[in-house]
Amino acid sequence: MTEDGPCLGVDIGGTKVALRAEAGARCVAETVFAWQPRHSADRDLAQLAAHVGGLSERLAVPPRAVGVAVPATVGPDERVTAWPSRPEWTGTDLGAALRALLPGTPVAWADDGDLGALAEARAADCADLLYIGVGTGVGGGLVLRGDLCPGLGRGSFEIGHTVVDLGGPRCVCGRRGCLQAIASGPATLRHAARLRGSDVDYDALRQAWLDAAPWAVAALRRTCRALAAAATGVQELLHPRLLLIGGGFASGLPGLDALLTEHLAGLARPGHPPLTARPAALGGLSSLRGAVELARRTHA
Ligand SMILES: [Zn+2]
Repeated sequence: MTEDGPCLGVDIGGTKVALRAEAGARCVAETVFAWQPRHSADRDLAQLAAHVGGLSERLAVPPRAVGVAVPATVGPDERVTAWPSRPEWTGTDLGAALRALLPGTPVAWADDGDLGALAEARAADCADLLYIGVGTGVGGGLVLRGDLCPGLGRGSFEIGHTVVDLGGPRCVCGRRGCLQAIASGPATLRHAARLRGSDVDYDALRQAWLDAAPWAVAALRRTCRALAAAATGVQELLHPRLLLIGGGFASGLPGLDALLTEHLAGLARPGHPPLTARPAALGGLSSLRGAVELARRTHA
């Protein structure tokens, strides 16, 4: 570890891992690797350690800290509870494995949605920001007074599992009516298919949305209504000033932020101005940038 060394961010994904080192605000190294197809958690972690070690050795000055964005659900004992993309990791002592990546260098880790929010808040220069990413699931994070809420080691901000429809569709978590069960990319496509009467893939939905086809608009209205309900609940409790909407599914649908803003306005109550939704700025890079920011905030 070196006091003035760069900060290393690692974004662990289901199929690939991205690494980025920044010295000040300047990127000094960046790389991506794909997981080996036949894997176990131990082999994955060995592959991860080799890439982190390799990148670290290529730097002129060793990293002073590492921040890691993690997609898995992790319990209070730091063990992986669930990770649908790589179920072999279930039970892995993630905290110990990550701390062993670069012995002697401080390592911190957090949920990838939370770190996405941290990076988006920095990019938007907004200290009180709600970020929602809509993709295969619904994730996101909340930044209050410039810091993650609820905060490192205190659990992640699971907006996708807030209940917005009592008796609604079953979520992957087993509960009914979670935001994710209604507003995720796949859930929206399923609803669009019901409205159209035939299967709908993402490209078809996107084109029909651009053409203002009634079935596509209706499907996305339902999604935005659910997103607005969850965001309004957060606003009532914690008062973020801005909502950014990102993620692979939402970012390909121009104007979705305006539809969401319309639904937020529909849920406003007197004396409480509604949140405004805007598109997130960093796209798929938000959690990697957030991991670097986490490293920047991590000290020995
Ligand atoms: Zn759920």
